[in-house]
Amino acid sequence: MAETVVKIENLVKRYKDLIALDHFNIDIKEGEVFGLLGPNGSGKTTAINCLLSLLTFDKGTIEIFGQKMAPDNYKVKSNIGVIMQNVAVLDELTVYENIDYFCGLYIKDKALRKKYVEEAIEFVGLESFVKFYPKKLSGGLLRRLNIACGIAHKPRLIILDEPTVAVDPQSRNRILEGIQELNKDGATIIYTSHYMEEVEQICTRIAIIDKGKNIAIGTKDELKKMIRKTETITIEILNPEEAVIERIRSLEHVYETDFTDGKLIIRCSGGKHNLVRILGILAEADVPFGRVYSEQPTLNDVFLEITGKALRDGEGQ
Ligand code: ADP
Ligand code: MG
Repeated sequence: MAETVVKIENLVKRYKDLIALDHFNIDIKEGEVFGLLGPNGSGKTTAINCLLSLLTFDKGTIEIFGQKMAPDNYKVKSNIGVIMQNVAVLDELTVYENIDYFCGLYIKDKALRKKYVEEAIEFVGLESFVKFYPKKLSGGLLRRLNIACGIAHKPRLIILDEPTVAVDPQSRNRILEGIQELNKDGATIIYTSHYMEEVEQICTRIAIIDKGKNIAIGTKDELKKMIRKTETITIEILNPEEAVIERIRSLEHVYETDFTDGKLIIRCSGGKHNLVRILGILAEADVPFGRVYSEQPTLNDVFLEITGKALRDGEGQ
């Protein structure tokens, strides 16, 4: 059994009347890429700030590497790398100097520090920008600098709070690949995001959070097994007769059909060969159709079924 790196139990955090974290729990093992997925305002950043002892909290316990976390627990802190949601770099220092400064907080040996700084620069691909000042960098490059500052000292636990927001697609992919590389090299990762696609792509285990509460926790497959929907089938079709839709709806594993904008959307729960049976009905009734596709449930479906609302505005039905 892998070592527990982070354990948060029954964490309660209030901002005056607002309960930002409501008996929040997570348990993260060494080697995981742990995703904290939730909409804006669900409490992700608050949880990270409590974890790092940057915020006091009202109730609960937090342990990192088996030790109680405290503001002056520098030994634990030196093993953590943090990339905060709001980029925090020093404007008066160049790219190189920034990374050197943050690395120097933990690595005192000069030769080793130089090596680590150079490795971090290479890791985020900022070799051509080492003499630039942060103000001259694009959003994506600035984010990469922020990451380099957080990881240069080779921490065992790396926390990234929404690192891909306001980042171009190229930097975004580089960041996601970089996280997986850091994990391969042995770091445990905590990754917060409101983008379910990213979390699905890189996380080994995911806690879904809403209004400061964990609503579900597991691997993406475990989370998807918690809900009714197993498959959504979409068929492009012009004007299906109600009788045909009715026959599809009466299939054993179909629980919902929806016809809009020339698309018949069929939601299924369990069962095999749903698509074959549906196409059989269309063929028998001699109904012409265009493109057909079947989609597995997403984490948004999980969020939608458990909370009754979409993870992001405009998503879900
Ligand atoms: P997330 O990171 O998931 O977007 P946050 O942890 O930033 O969520 O916020 C959780 C809730 O706490 C939100 O309702 C937010 O408005 C509130 N909040 C966050 N920081 C403060 C603060 N310093 N004072 C008062 N309320 C806050
Ligand atoms: Mg946040």
